[in-house]
Amino acid sequence: MAQFAVIGLGRFGSAASLELMRLGHQVIGIDSNSKFINRLADQLSHAVIADATDELALQELDIAGCDAVLVAIGENLEASILCVLNLKNIGVNQIWVKATSKAHHMILSRLGVSRIIHPEEEMGVKVAQALNYPMVSQY
Ligand code: ATP
Repeated sequence: MAQFAVIGLGRFGSAASLELMRLGHQVIGIDSNSKFINRLADQLSHAVIADATDELALQELDIAGCDAVLVAIGENLEASILCVLNLKNIGVNQIWVKATSKAHHMILSRLGVSRIIHPEEEMGVKVAQALNYPMVSQY
């Protein structure tokens, strides 16, 4: 069983955290908006209201020991980047981040995060592969 933290529990972050739970892992969900925390509180190992741009708040959550942290703050570029810097400062090695623009991608790649995720593009490729599958099996 691995231990993960998911920061930002919008559609992407909540789907990822629930799937990690289903796969048998420990998940701490973090969001600055209590609405998202309340929605998932009884489905995650821990759910905490915290601002991920606040390094002290992240430090107190003791997430440095997690196997990986997924940053799923999409729209707010500044918050996403500050969150990544904070995670690096507190010693998180595996940082996976959802990117929403080319500029976001470029900054994340300069920061040396472990994986940059582009949900729309990656899902587009997966759907094309799924569509292709019945064609292939006809031969
Ligand atoms: P979705 O996955 O729903 O498409 P999105 O890409 O629109 O989400 P946002 O809505 O910008 O992304 O952020 C996703 C979540 O991150 C929201 O629930 C938001 O409350 C949370 N969030 C934003 N800023 C912070 C922050 N500084 N600290 C913690 N959580 C944050």
